[in-house]
Amino acid sequence: MSAAEPLVAIRDLHKTYNKGLPNAEEVLHGIDLVIHPGEFTALIGPSGSGKSTLLNILGLLESASGGSYRLGGRDVTAFADDERTLARHQVLGFIFQFHHLLPAFTALENVMLPGLMGRSRGVLQSDLRERAMELLDAVGLREACDKKPTELSGGMQQRVAIARALVRNPQLVLADEPTGNLDTHSSDSIFALLRQFNRERGTGLLIVTHDPRLAARCDRIIELVDGQIASDRTNTPAV
Ligand code: ADP
Repeated sequence: MSAAEPLVAIRDLHKTYNKGLPNAEEVLHGIDLVIHPGEFTALIGPSGSGKSTLLNILGLLESASGGSYRLGGRDVTAFADDERTLARHQVLGFIFQFHHLLPAFTALENVMLPGLMGRSRGVLQSDLRERAMELLDAVGLREACDKKPTELSGGMQQRVAIARALVRNPQLVLADEPTGNLDTHSSDSIFALLRQFNRERGTGLLIVTHDPRLAARCDRIIELVDGQIASDRTNTPAV
């Protein structure tokens, strides 16, 4: 990928669920979107406007019905499943509202897991444990590395999920309501952590949020309404 090339470039993206069936519904109606490396962006919009659908397509978890998608300088529009998985592993990280930690594994093992699958950018398997510990340290959980998820609070579990999303050193983390089920205090500290990773490591973030306070702390705010981008503006966070 050349320095000038965007990380994400989608053009005229459409998504129809149940295509060909009587209940077919087009939920994304021609989205154009460019995201550069290291951008810290909020994706907002009413419930049902297509935010999760767009995030899933960007994350190569779902296919679009039309349009094109370039990720990391490659045209991934027509990639087969195995190529999509590889591209996902090389470029992307994910944080979900519900952290999906595996209950039988410790915090450290949960963070290491994505690194055990496939090759990761700049992370050797032998360095994985050390890197996972370093990330747990960065999210303030070094002491909790041997704890199982049920022994941790909701906020702590989400911190583990953040460390897990970063273990492959992704260029872009897609976060779907990462603070959605947390109280204001935990939500603020999780957000501060995401911002810290963005500033210190240049990790790009695209964060779906319902919370206008959190969106106001991002550098760019994209608003989706009825499956179309209604506004896309740069933002200067207050602090
Ligand atoms: P948001 O994240 O903004 O709430 P979604 O992307 O979840 O919006 O949903 C957008 C629209 O797509 C909604 O009308 C929803 O019912 C529909 N939709 C989402 N996922 C599916 C699916 N798997 N099958 C059919 N329709 C879906």
